[in-house]
Amino acid sequence: MSDAEPKERAAKWVLVLHGGAGSIPGDSPDDIRTGYEQGVRQAMEIGVRLLEEGRPAVDVVGEVVVSLEDSPIFNAGKGSVFTAAGGHELDACLMDGRTMGSGAVTGVKRIKNPIRAARLVMDNTRHILLAGEGADNFALKHDCEEVEQSYYFTSRRFHALNRYLKANGQPTFESPAYKLPTGVKIESDAADSPGNTVGCVALDLDGNLAAATSTGGLNGKMHGRIGDTPIVGAGTYANRFCAASGTGTGEQYMRHTICTKVAWLVEQGKSPEQAVAHCLNEILNPGDGGIIAISADGRVTAQSNTGSMPRAIADSNGRREVGIWFDE
Ligand code: ASP
Repeated sequence: MSDAEPKERAAKWVLVLHGGAGSIPGDSPDDIRTGYEQGVRQAMEIGVRLLEEGRPAVDVVGEVVVSLEDSPIFNAGKGSVFTAAGGHELDACLMDGRTMGSGAVTGVKRIKNPIRAARLVMDNTRHILLAGEGADNFALKHDCEEVEQSYYFTSRRFHALNRYLKANGQPTFESPAYKLPTGVKIESDAADSPGNTVGCVALDLDGNLAAATSTGGLNGKMHGRIGDTPIVGAGTYANRFCAASGTGTGEQYMRHTICTKVAWLVEQGKSPEQAVAHCLNEILNPGDGGIIAISADGRVTAQSNTGSMPRAIADSNGRREVGIWFDE
């Protein structure tokens, strides 16, 4: 899949989504490939339907991310990675380029769809970012669906935590820090690859842009660690020029305020493809991550310097593309 230059006929709406920068082995079994492809395709179809219906970009990116959070293959919502304390702490952020409104949550532990909580913060508070218990309680008060920590559990993420701890000379876990429900077993070690954060950017029929990103964070992260995803301008950003969502080593995206930089470069006249390439190749280090972006004139890009990034691009001209690696 190549990055897009504008089509002859400008698209009326555009959607790009990612399922995380990472290093999915090219020789992965068919079910891994199919799993990622199905996950991004299904989310893309939801986004396409909503954009065709004329829904605002900020609604669309939220619903697309809900679909990705619900899929256990991605590191967001169900299937989130483990912290070094053996549990899950989730982050999400959403930004409306039309209003510059934004909402985010970090370190949530009881919410099925953190991106819904982020939207509630945007719509119902004068704040942008709520953390931990305060964020959980706020979201539950506003009828977000509540789950136990075990909802997020997957065997492959559990083994990934233990592999990480072992490689760092730390004691491993026999079982997660929470109780697994009866009938749920830790299945034998299964292949896992880092990454799989999710994000979406969209340009709607009214010409407005929005971005959303959701993640379980980094495998084996410290309890309390906050990454780039919920930080406006680092992992998520949208204004009237550009919408961008990042994925990768969050600390790098934070220190370089990467998504703001992409939008700024687009405002200065670069194409999203040039802006993202500049950030990935001149600012970030090889292997740091990936970025998706859309400009207000409907140009898009999806790039990563990690080797793989499940992703999809769709537009009103009939474009429908799904990819995982960059050399296919
Ligand atoms: N950027 C995310 C974080 O650092 C992780 C990822 O995108 O894989 O929390």
